[in-house]
Amino acid sequence: MIYNLPPWLCMKRKYIMFCMMITGPRQPGNDIDVYLSPLIEDLTKLLKDGVDVWDANLQHTFRLHAMVFCTLSDYPTYDNLSGYSVKGHYACPICEKNTSFLQLKHGKKTIYTRH
Ligand SMILES: [Zn+2]
Repeated sequence: MIYNLPPWLCMKRKYIMFCMMITGPRQPGNDIDVYLSPLIEDLTKLLKDGVDVWDANLQHTFRLHAMVFCTLSDYPTYDNLSGYSVKGHYACPICEKNTSFLQLKHGKKTIYTRH
């Protein structure tokens, strides 16, 4: 979101930038750090140093800083990025060891209750 726009504009859909990363048919697994390394480098530079950007409205350059405000991911990606295993009996990252689960008798699958 471009927060230097007026409040009534910055939440409009056309001023919200949404980026998405699709890794391909297979997950990168433990190589996720290598995969994300260029992005982390760019974000670190944007946060610490910023980059010069041309402001066409005011006709001058200014130093732009940016940061990640939030991320959205599916459950398998959460597992991959956070390092917390979302499989098995303690799959809930909030409840952890208190995760309420049942083991299905015939299907042998774990289901999570009260979540
Ligand atoms: Zn839970």
